[in-house]
Amino acid sequence: MPVDLHTHSTASDGTTPPTALPREAKAAGLTAFALTDHDTTDGLAACAEASAEIGIDFVPGIEVSADPGEHPEKQGTRGTLHILGLFIRHDDDHLAAIAARMKEARDERNPAIVQRLRDLGIDITYDDVLAVANAQGTAIIGRPHIAQVLVDKGVVTDIAEAFTRYLARSGKAYVRRDRLPASDAIAAIHHAGGLAVMAHPIQMGIAADANLRNFIANLKDQGLDGIETHHSDHPPEGVAQYAAIARDLDLLTSGGSDYHGSRKPIALGSVPVDDEVYRRLRAAAR
Ligand code: AMP
Ligand code: ZN
Ligand code: FE
Ligand code: FE
Repeated sequence: MPVDLHTHSTASDGTTPPTALPREAKAAGLTAFALTDHDTTDGLAACAEASAEIGIDFVPGIEVSADPGEHPEKQGTRGTLHILGLFIRHDDDHLAAIAARMKEARDERNPAIVQRLRDLGIDITYDDVLAVANAQGTAIIGRPHIAQVLVDKGVVTDIAEAFTRYLARSGKAYVRRDRLPASDAIAAIHHAGGLAVMAHPIQMGIAADANLRNFIANLKDQGLDGIETHHSDHPPEGVAQYAAIARDLDLLTSGGSDYHGSRKPIALGSVPVDDEVYRRLRAAAR
């Protein structure tokens, strides 16, 4: 009974509409799945409705970008800290306010990235980016949309190259965006009745197990409920490491593919967790 608890739709930077995702999930053999769009709950109501219609168990979620603070190993750099909210009430006013703040931060950063690309001599305008987002019907614009424009214009051959050369942290056009303190992200998720789960711990880029444990223990002190042990970026030894940390710190475990439709070469349901993991999460969420 496979379950996928990390997916994106056209409400953020995926390519599958929230109304079509349940059918795809069912076709992939999933019994349940979560929609966890970046910094928005916009797709949840439609996805819940479509899920009920075709009879698949749906978990309303969100993936919040949070400030990781100083990196414990690499001074002057930061890792990537995303916190999943699972089983959230999608009409929570507090979470909506937080989402509005995050959208503002994106809307400040994105034109700055485009300006950097222009300074590098690339023929791109912010209107090009808005056109990609509008065609998709999202208000939450992220780097994948800018990457899409670079591909469409033939500046790069694929999304991966757009990130490596320009948009990743080490890329030539990278611009940081303001992020929520982790404690605020966790509190907002709790306010909406959800569980706060650290997404893809590998993306923090912390090498030493003791340092990662420390980092996660600190998040637990701020209310973290679980960690995503299974994720498409995690090698088998990573899964084992994160599972051990979860066990020792008495945290729940979760997992999912981080499906983005055709924007990433990752299939829906390709990184499943089993019924037991799902049951524990569901019970903890009440
Ligand atoms: P943003 O929300 O604008 O910060 O962009 C984050 C999105 O970009 C997430 O969906 C990431 O999975 C995606 N992303 C980050 N790094 C890469 C990469 N190297 N290749 C492809 N997608 C990436
Ligand atoms: Zn994404
Ligand atoms: Fe993420
Ligand atoms: Fe994600």
